Amino acid sequence: MIGPFTAGLHIRGLDRDDTPIADYLCGTCGAHKQVTGRTDVAEFLATNPPADHAKRCKPRAA
Ligand SMILES: [Zn+2]
Repeated sequence: MIGPFTAGLHIRGLDRDDTPIADYLCGTCGAHKQVTGRTDVAEFLATNPPADHAKRCKPRAA
């Protein structure tokens, strides 16, 4: 189930035995990235998604 997201980085399930899910939603351009799985989430977080995205964030033209 995908709920409404607020902008920013969200991680769920890391503290449980479930498959963890990490989301990053950019409040500026609306870009959304989601990764699932413990390994993928760990790699995703290691890239510092907000900083990484900010380098290529392209705000939508008004
Ligand atoms: Zn962006």
